[in-house]
Amino acid sequence: MSETPKSLNFIEHIIEEDLAKGFPAKDLRFRFPPEPNGYLHIGHASSICLNFGLGLKYNAPVNLRFDDTNPIKEEQEYVDAIKNDVKWLGYTWDTECYASDYFQLLYDWAKELIEKGKAYVDSQTSEEMAKQKGTPTEPGVNSPYRGRSVAENIELFKGMKDGLYEEGTHVLRAKIDMSSPNMLMRDPIMYRILKRAHHRTNTDWCIYPMYDWTHGESDYIEQVTHSLCTLEFAPHRELYDWFLDNICDPVKIRPKQREFARRNLSHTVVSKRKLLQLVEKGLVNGWDDPRMPTISGLRRRGYTPESIRNFAETIGIAKRENVVDVSLLEFHIREHLNKIAPRVMAVLNPLKVVITNFPEEDEEWLNAENNPEDESAGYRKLPFSRELYIEREDFREEANRKFFRLKLGGEVRLKNAYIIKAESCTKDSEGNITEVQCTYDPKSKSGSGSPESLRKVKGTLHWVSIENALPVEVRLYDRLFTDETPDGHKDRDFLEFINPDSLKVITGYVEPSLKEAKVNDRFQFQRLGYFNVDEDSTGDKLVFNRTVTLRDTWAKIDRKP
Ligand code: ATP
Ligand code: MG
Repeated sequence: MSETPKSLNFIEHIIEEDLAKGFPAKDLRFRFPPEPNGYLHIGHASSICLNFGLGLKYNAPVNLRFDDTNPIKEEQEYVDAIKNDVKWLGYTWDTECYASDYFQLLYDWAKELIEKGKAYVDSQTSEEMAKQKGTPTEPGVNSPYRGRSVAENIELFKGMKDGLYEEGTHVLRAKIDMSSPNMLMRDPIMYRILKRAHHRTNTDWCIYPMYDWTHGESDYIEQVTHSLCTLEFAPHRELYDWFLDNICDPVKIRPKQREFARRNLSHTVVSKRKLLQLVEKGLVNGWDDPRMPTISGLRRRGYTPESIRNFAETIGIAKRENVVDVSLLEFHIREHLNKIAPRVMAVLNPLKVVITNFPEEDEEWLNAENNPEDESAGYRKLPFSRELYIEREDFREEANRKFFRLKLGGEVRLKNAYIIKAESCTKDSEGNITEVQCTYDPKSKSGSGSPESLRKVKGTLHWVSIENALPVEVRLYDRLFTDETPDGHKDRDFLEFINPDSLKVITGYVEPSLKEAKVNDRFQFQRLGYFNVDEDSTGDKLVFNRTVTLRDTWAKIDRKP
């Protein structure tokens, strides 16, 4: 089958231009550079798919680089989670790298800059420095320490490294231009003193390099050719280049920073800092809570790596920021699960049905197809008996002609079983229906080929045999935020938009074939949605997460069931 070639995105155009100019394809190299200060989220998935996708397309190595220069926020737990998530998404990195492995080299290069008169130690307070920064329209003011001699700077910088000074007393700054129209070029800080243990270098260092100083040099050390980052770094490109200009060996590859737009998902937040607040305030049950837009949350919720990759592929990359509707993500998981998830029956809001003409001691094991989308999925056995559960919503005493479910005097087919007719119902003292009495047509068995089995009735209901059903815990999730862009409001905090009803826990009844289900097995509960087995399941009790409903219940158009 021939595929229509996909048009190139703008990053691929940049690469193609470089190749056309003679850059050897064998030297292409990319990286994905997370800071280990939280778990990866769906926004990161875009960056992962972009970088690793380019690696696959150009047969080029992709490094996984931990941008670990801030020991205050970074932890080994996050490193482990990030590796696990990238692997789960289906990608293989070439080299596992850490910015912290370059601390010594970066320090040596910083000394070189001092020797060239391009960096100096500033001993003002951060407030004083802030005052001298100027504004985008007014130039800044030079620090009184800007003219320090090379010898004095070297001495002080070494003292900073050796722990002679307290935090906040000195910083190392690049000596660029305090009147540059780009505020980031006004003598940016390269190092600060932080007397904190680092998750990898422990207490070896008490000065830590800043992002701008570290990132480009790390790209250069690894000989990354195209360093792709999000749009907010566009103004940093000038500084990225300035550092390279002063360090780069001209015979080596000089990395190129290029920017693409951050991807935001509706009804949630994609920022590790904000997600951490949800975790710390106990608003969710950890980073992998199935309501979280983290890769680990989506995995636990029942998402497949394919669905996330397809989603990232569909939205592609852009030059402008926008919000992608979460229903597109849900579309992709539905599409994948429709192909792979076995169909089973579960009743979540049970109403008892008694088949009065089915003998009490009898039980019949019916054949049921596992997945009409996948012949190889085969068949399973399903018990039919006198007492069944159907969904409470599926029965009404009276209803108009558009109600294709069960009503008194009316018929429906029970999926994979028989046609039944509702004869009467019983109510409690408050008028709630407690039981429906039905008769069944013994000749109407599904798939038997008899004329009765071919008889058309309007509705088909799912059901379970009460005696054989397994009671299970079912966790029904809804959007975590009621607002489309919870962090898009100037004077309101995103936490104000938390949906108080994002989790509902109920008891459901599932067919007995699910007894052997394993953690993360995925199913379609017919007519209800896709569900997976949660890791909280025990030998006694299965716990299911609703991954997604069968239809988009939030869609503007109300498609009747
Ligand atoms: P956060 O604010 O969530 O911490 P970040 O950009 O600080 O995000 P990093 O760990 O530095 O997180 O990100 C690693 C890579 O992923 C970077 O190249 C970053 O630009 C990219 N990235 C992060 N968030 C998104 C997003 N929402 N859409 C696309 N790419 C993203
Ligand atoms: Mg960050």
